[in-house]
Amino acid sequence: MIKTPLVFAAISDFSGKLRGKSFPLADLEKRSDKGVGWTPTNVQITCFDKIAETPFGSLGDLLLVPDPETLVDIDYGDHDPSDRFVMGDIRELDGTPWSCCTRSLLKHALARLENLGGVKLVAAFEHEFQLDAPTPTFGEAYTHAGFQSQRRLGETLMGALDVAGMSTDTFMNEYGPDQFEVTVNPTDGLRAADNAAALREITRSVAKRLGERASFTPIRDPDNVGNGVHIHISFKDAQGSPTTYDRNGLAGMSQVTGSFVAGILKYLDSIIALTAPSDVSYLRLTPHRWSAAYNNLGLRDREASLRICPTSAQDEAGIARQYNFEFRAADAAASPYLALAAIVHAGAQGLEEGLAPPPVTQEDLSLLSSEDLNAKGYVRLPETLPEALARFEKNQVVRGWFPKEFSDVYLAHKRGELAYLGTMTVEERCDVYAKTY
Ligand code: GLU
Ligand code: MG
Repeated sequence: MIKTPLVFAAISDFSGKLRGKSFPLADLEKRSDKGVGWTPTNVQITCFDKIAETPFGSLGDLLLVPDPETLVDIDYGDHDPSDRFVMGDIRELDGTPWSCCTRSLLKHALARLENLGGVKLVAAFEHEFQLDAPTPTFGEAYTHAGFQSQRRLGETLMGALDVAGMSTDTFMNEYGPDQFEVTVNPTDGLRAADNAAALREITRSVAKRLGERASFTPIRDPDNVGNGVHIHISFKDAQGSPTTYDRNGLAGMSQVTGSFVAGILKYLDSIIALTAPSDVSYLRLTPHRWSAAYNNLGLRDREASLRICPTSAQDEAGIARQYNFEFRAADAAASPYLALAAIVHAGAQGLEEGLAPPPVTQEDLSLLSSEDLNAKGYVRLPETLPEALARFEKNQVVRGWFPKEFSDVYLAHKRGELAYLGTMTVEERCDVYAKTY
């Protein structure tokens, strides 16, 4: 049969979905210059295919401009079509970044950090997902048998990520039923977000080819663990040398790391609406689920919002190269661009305010009374999406990091998403999110 190979130009928008338009692959260079037409109100399409309240209505025109360096082109060698897409920026017709372009917002945040701290951000997104198994697995957490049952999926996925230019790390059978985790190695901030957006698509595509369905929903079963997205962060200077670690710093944090981490913790309750942005995200962010429930820093503690990760090197230079911390209060309902932009701005704000490095918690914060928590400077993170949105809405510092129009559009989007859920039970909510992510 005849065919013209198409490439899909995409943006991971407020819903965390990859939306865009396709055109002939042969036109990629031309389109990287002139873009493809885009409509402002598209940003208000929620994950449930409803258009939330929109200030744009049917008016306006934008351009989705692909960045050819992000081209993913995977021929799986089966008879199904290739995965072929490219990430892009949304611009006004005059070429300036659009206020609600998630990728442009991340670029701006990274530039702010570089200006303030003289460092470049390096990141890696660690993803958990679950397969819709006809009979959920039992007794297979972390087992070889559980891994073996999806070895083919793991091997195909790692092969595809490799072709997509990612440096693959691990694939494993996680603790939850039919839950798997895939990790890739760190890279520059923008590319890490490009990779995260691509990895979710590729994982779904690989699963589908093998007759499975992969879901990145934040939580499938309220009585079980969730699917987290853990964002590993480190810094390097202009010469590319690591600057995250200082042997004399508190818990090994360099000055820039200490202030950055303190900024994230200070603003966490107000940015979580951007990093864990679904209704069911807050079922996951509860104590004893190895996710994140308080604005604390832990040393190798998987219950902390920010965790200083272990290093295995025995020499100082090796430790400095490996040293990183991870943000655990994120999930895949969030656009990786928006989640990372919010984290980077919060960290940069910590640098701007010259915040001191925060203490490392050693205790189970869920056992403290709210007075004791307050006395120690901790807060319980918002327990519902409406509460998280209200904190974001009220925080003028956080809103000030983004273009003027952005916050109200984002809030309207998320409130439109909540309206769809109406009076659904918790189980029904988990179900619709499992279907859409
Ligand atoms: N599933 C946990 C989460 O929701 C993470 C488990 C782990 O530490 O990898 O974040
Ligand atoms: Mg995990």
